[in-house]
Amino acid sequence: MIEVFRSLKEVMALENKIKRHMDVIDEEKKRISFIENQRKLKQDKLEEQNKLTSSVRAKSTSDENELEKIDSQIERVKQRIPLLKTDTQIKATEQEAASLDEKKDQLETTLLEEIEQLEQLSDSIKEHENFLKGSIQTLADINKEVDEKTAKENKEINNLQTRVSALLEDIPLQYRNKYHDVNKRYLFNNPLTSEENGICEICQMQITSLQHMAIEKMATFEACSGCNRIFLPHKVAHNL
Ligand SMILES: [Zn+2]
Repeated sequence: MIEVFRSLKEVMALENKIKRHMDVIDEEKKRISFIENQRKLKQDKLEEQNKLTSSVRAKSTSDENELEKIDSQIERVKQRIPLLKTDTQIKATEQEAASLDEKKDQLETTLLEEIEQLEQLSDSIKEHENFLKGSIQTLADINKEVDEKTAKENKEINNLQTRVSALLEDIPLQYRNKYHDVNKRYLFNNPLTSEENGICEICQMQITSLQHMAIEKMATFEACSGCNRIFLPHKVAHNL
């Protein structure tokens, strides 16, 4: 029976190693999702800026047309002035010309701002496009690295898994099944525990002297009444 406990302790150690390899794979996969997320953000930004560019361009075209209209209006008003007879008419027409001039100034300012905005958008769009272009290669490189590393880790995992299976095969079925049951809950999280100073090492539950004796007698599996993990006898827990 002590061999059963020793084997299970080794199985648990191997399973912990498997978990570490799985963690490495997860970390590697995060490298890919990180760059994919960055690309997605840039892609979204790019779409947004392309849309904005179209709308600013449309607005700027309509402002240019409006400016042309105002220019011809100003022209017509100015041609009218020498033909006018009364001061009142002249004054009113001059006022009209002044208000058109003001409108023209405002429109010119707006057009300059729009041109500036379009230039900024164009720079930013180029930047995003360059990032997206460059990051395709980066992503391909990282994918390759991650694939290689994952294959290596999976090979290690398979080797460890083979050793686990071999160890479990030699354990009598009833104990093997009990271990599988505990592992349903505690796989990669220490399905086995030990007694330290009268308490469960992991969950700190008190152990009765009766249970202590049963653990050390090694006739059966004793489960912790707190966490349900299987107790390793002292000798096995401390490699004595
Ligand atoms: Zn416990």
